[in-house]
Parts: sequence; C-alpha cells; structure tokens
Amino acid sequence: MSIKLPMVKLAERMSRLGTETAFEVMAKAKALEAQGKDMIYLQIGEPDFPTPKHIVEAGVTALRGGQTHYCASSGILPLKEAIVKEVVSRRGVAPSLHNIVVTPGAKPILFFVILALIEAGDEVIYPNPGFPIYESMISFAGAKAVPLPLREENDFSFDHDEFCSLINERTRLIILNSPHNPTGGILSRADVELVAKIARERNIMVLSDEVYKNILYDDCQHYSIYSLADMQERTILLDGFSKTYAMTGWRLGFGVMPKDLAKKIERLMVNSNSCTATFTQYAGIEALKGSTTEVDGMVDTFKSRRDFIVAGLNQLPGVKCLMPKGAFYVFPNVAELGMGSDDLENYLLHESGVAVLSGSAFGQYGEGFLRLSYANSIENIDRALQRINNALDKI
Ligand code: PLP
Repeated sequence: MSIKLPMVKLAERMSRLGTETAFEVMAKAKALEAQGKDMIYLQIGEPDFPTPKHIVEAGVTALRGGQTHYCASSGILPLKEAIVKEVVSRRGVAPSLHNIVVTPGAKPILFFVILALIEAGDEVIYPNPGFPIYESMISFAGAKAVPLPLREENDFSFDHDEFCSLINERTRLIILNSPHNPTGGILSRADVELVAKIARERNIMVLSDEVYKNILYDDCQHYSIYSLADMQERTILLDGFSKTYAMTGWRLGFGVMPKDLAKKIERLMVNSNSCTATFTQYAGIEALKGSTTEVDGMVDTFKSRRDFIVAGLNQLPGVKCLMPKGAFYVFPNVAELGMGSDDLENYLLHESGVAVLSGSAFGQYGEGFLRLSYANSIENIDRALQRINNALDKI
C-alpha cells in the first residue's frame, strides 16, 4: 500500500512573489532549439560582449592569490574606496565608507532594502512598465504596489501631476529607474527635482536604480537624485557591474544609503549570503579603476545597433518605435497589430524563432508593446527583423 505524503505547505507570502519572464522565455526558446529550430535571442537583458580582459585578469589574479575566503559582509575596503571615488566622479557628492554595502549583483539591494523599509499597509510607487522585480518585492513585503505610468506620449517619462496624485500619507518609498528598463527612456532634471521636492516635504525614501547609467546615447545626461541637496539622507542609490562591464555572471553590485540603513542591510547580508565573493570584488576594483576603452566601445556598438533596430522596426507594418536614449532595449508599440502582447510574444517565438518579451511582462502599462534587447549582433538583428516581417504578413 502506498502512503500519500502531504503536499508541501508553502507560506502565504510565496503566493505574492512574482518573477522575471525573461528566464521563462529563454527556457522555452532553448527547448525549441533543442528540437532543431533556429532561434534568435532578443529577450536577453545582458550584454553579449565578454567581460573586458583586464577585469577577467584581475579576477584570476585574485583567485590565484588566495582571495577565495569569506570577507567583510558589507564588502572589502579597497572596493568600497573605489565606489566612493566613482560616486564622487559621477554624482558629485562623497558618501562615506559606512554608506556602502556590496552585494552579489544589484538585485539583492532591492530585495533587502524593501524588506528593511516596507511593512504591510505601506505604499510604494514604482515605474510601470518597469523591471518586474519591483512589483514582485513590494507585494512580497505585503505592501501596496502603486504603479507610476510611463507613457509613450511622454517619451516614457512620467506625468508630473499624475505622480503628485499618487502620493499620500502611506507612501513610504518611491522607486526610480533611469536609464529605464524596458523602454530605454531617461528622467530629466525636472523629473528628479520634482521627486526630490516631494520626498523632502513628505519624508519619503527614494530607491534610485541606476544600473544602466553608463549606457547613454546622443549626449544625453544622467541625472541622479542622489546628487541633489539633502537627498543623500533619503536615497538608496542602487548600482552594479552587470550591465556596464558585461559582468552579469560575476554577481556584483552595491547600494549607497544612509548609515543606519546600511547597517541593517549588512545584517541581512550576514543572514543570507555572508558576503559577496571576494575575488569578484577584486575584479570590480579593476572595472572601476582600469581603462574604459572597452566599455566605451560597447556603448558605441550598442548605439549603432539601436539605430539599426529602430529604423527596421519602424518599417514593419503596424509597428511604431521611439528612439531610446539609454540602456539596450527598444519598446515598440504593436497595438495596431491587434494581437495581445503575450500572444504576439508566443507567436513570434514559434512562428519566426525570435525570442522577444511581451510588454505586459513589465506591468499593465506595457500592454500593446514588446521589449526587444539589441544585445545581439547587427546580422542577427537583421535576420530577426526579416523573420518578424514575414510572420506579421501572415497575421
Ligand atoms: N535593475 C534593473 C533595472 C535591471 O534591469 C537589472 C537586471 O536586469 C537589475 C537591476 C539587476 O542587475 P544585477 O542583479 O545583475 O546587478
């Protein structure tokens, strides 16, 4: 007689944890590839370039030199010193070493900060469409996720009156992301000044996700809210190495935040990861201090691809695509095609062997759009555009 084991009983909070569908689409595409279908991957959120050689060398030297043990939970001193210099040079203000916590990727900063600051009943304003982990983590913490719509007609920035109308006495945190995933939009000086003004008046914290700050085109400027007066005490600056230095697999990121909060985030690190891999942090020092030639080259290449893919998308019937100002994504409007974004994602995957993401994977205001990453060669982008064109002809 077989005994039926009880089903795993999960904590209620697990039903509130979302995901990133980019990983699911990747799995579906790989399964199709395994069946012999030729796939082109435009769903991926990582640079297709190798990590620059001098950074790899620094990591290898650290490994050979024995940097293979635990280290301080908030990060090694020389990396924190390099981060201070980087923040001074890019944001014009100097944090102290106590303000910095190094983590395995930038994502844990988001996870830990929301756990540390947010309670049930709080409200958190976040960009929508936006990086799906924002909404996921806000809901996981039991708070109310309040979408800040980023509309195409505003060049994927937000409407100031609409932003002000979302603020109330329960608003605890505002999340900003510029340059923005998935639209490639950026925040203007006026945008960040308005958010700073409200944050000061209402004593609201701001989490500023700046992981794409180095990937900007056409002389566009990056405005960090962290640079503005009195904002260092109410901002968590989130940054990382994945995108700028093509270091997604190294897992290295950091947060700059008020000292009291940094102590709690360090404690969350002790309770979860213990520390970030030591040799990875040595590679990070080289990334911040070493030559920028390869990084500059990557941004130039991204720019040519951006111009190519935007021009190609705008030639497709029923597709309209704005020119993104940063990051490595395009967010074309496909509403005229009359197929929902999820169905279109699925159709293109199976019909044309092109993996893209549905705009609705980034929130309800992403419906009617697709996200394509141009972290792929011009040849592959060209082939993908031709295949999409053929597939759209059949709708
Ligand atoms: N923030 C945004 C807007 C992102 O797009 C990503 C990655 O896709 C991250 C944060 C996290 O990056 P990582 O954890 O690799 O540093």
